[in-house]
Amino acid sequence: MKFNTKAIHAGQQPEETSGAVMPPVFHTSTYAQESPNIHKGYDYARVGNPTRTALEKLIAGLENADECACFSSGVAAIDAILKTLKPGDHVISTNDLYGGTYRLFTQVFEPYGIDFSFVDMTRTEEVESAVTSNTRLIWIETPTNPLLRIIDIEAVSKIAHKAGALSMVDNTFASPYLQRPLDLGADAVMHSTTKYLGGHSDAIGGAVASSDKDLMEKLRFQVKTTGAVPGPMDCYLILRGIKTLHVRVQRSVENAKEIAEYLSGHPDVDLLYYPGLKTHPQHELAARQMNDFGAMVSFTLKDDSMDAANSFMSKTRIFTLAESLGGVESLISHPASMTHGSIPKEVREKAGLMDSLIRLSVGIEDSEDLIGDLEQAF
Ligand SMILES: *Cc1c(COP(=O)(O)O)cnc(C)c1O
Repeated sequence: MKFNTKAIHAGQQPEETSGAVMPPVFHTSTYAQESPNIHKGYDYARVGNPTRTALEKLIAGLENADECACFSSGVAAIDAILKTLKPGDHVISTNDLYGGTYRLFTQVFEPYGIDFSFVDMTRTEEVESAVTSNTRLIWIETPTNPLLRIIDIEAVSKIAHKAGALSMVDNTFASPYLQRPLDLGADAVMHSTTKYLGGHSDAIGGAVASSDKDLMEKLRFQVKTTGAVPGPMDCYLILRGIKTLHVRVQRSVENAKEIAEYLSGHPDVDLLYYPGLKTHPQHELAARQMNDFGAMVSFTLKDDSMDAANSFMSKTRIFTLAESLGGVESLISHPASMTHGSIPKEVREKAGLMDSLIRLSVGIEDSEDLIGDLEQAF
C-alpha cells in the first residue's frame, strides 16, 4: 500500500461485533475473563485498550515499523525510552533540541546517572568523536526545533550501530508523511502525536515505533509498569486526525513555501530558516532524506531587540501566538521564552537560538490571508 492509502487503512478493520468503520472509543478499565488469564487479549486497560491498539497499528504502518507503543504525551514516550537505559550509560544528542527533551535529559535523567553529550549533529564527525564505550543511545531530532537544521539520519545511525548503540529519531517536526527514519537505518522513531499526527490541537499524546523486538518489549514493560498511557478518547482523536495527515501536511508545506519565499524578499527580515531554500546549509540533505521540506519556518527581524519581536508577535491575527505546532491552524511563537525557556540563555545562544527568533507553524488556511497577516504585522 502507498502512504496515502495506509494513512486511512493501515492496521484498521471494521469492528467485529457491529461492523463500525471507525474503532469505538473503548471506555473501560478492565475486561471480563472466561477463566483466570483466559481472555480476548486484554486484561487491564493500563496494559492495553482496543482503541489504543488501533492507533498503534496505524502509526506502525505509517513508519514501516512492526510495532508501535503509544503514551500519554510525547515526553512520556521519551521518558519511557530513557528508562530502558541504566546508570552509567551515555547518550549523544543534538544541541538544537526540543526544550522539553533537554529538560528531561538534564534535570531528570542526568541526576539518575545517565550521561549526555550535546553536539552539533549536522557535523557527523562531532557525533563520532563524542562516542564512548558507554554510548547506548544516539538521539536525533530532525528537522531541529526551532532552527530547522537537518541531520543525516543514515550517517548518524551508522555511527550508532558501529558503537553498539541504538539510533532514535524524534520525527515530530517532519511527520511520517515527509520522513521515514526506519527506512534510513534508524532503530526507532518517536512522535509527539500532539502535533502533525493529531493535527487539530485537541489532544496530547506520544508514540514510539520500531521493528526492534527487544526494544519494543522493554517499552511495553514500561507502559505496563510506569503507566504513562493515553486515554481512549485521546487515542481516537489522534487516530481520526491521522486519516487526513497527508492532505493536511501537503497543504501546510505548500503554504510554508510561499511564506518562506515572501519572507526571503522582505526588507525587515534578517535570518531566515527553511530547509526548502537553496541557501539553507543542509538543503541537499533535506531534499535527499525528506519527501518535502516541512511547514515550519523560523526567522529573525533586522531589528534584533526583544521588543521588536514581541511587538511583531502581538500584532498577528490569523497566526495565533501559542506554543505547539502541527495543527490545521497557523501558530506563531517565541522559542527563547516559550518552548525553549527551560534552556539557559548562554546554552541557547551557543546553539544559535537568539532571543529575536520567531517561529511559525504554518497551517492550512489560505496562503494569501497568511501572508497578508504577516505583512500587516511588519
Ligand atoms: C512537542 C514536542 C515534544 C513533546 O511532546 P508532548 O506531546 O508535548 O509531550 C517532543 N519533541 C518535539 C520535537 C516536540 O515538538
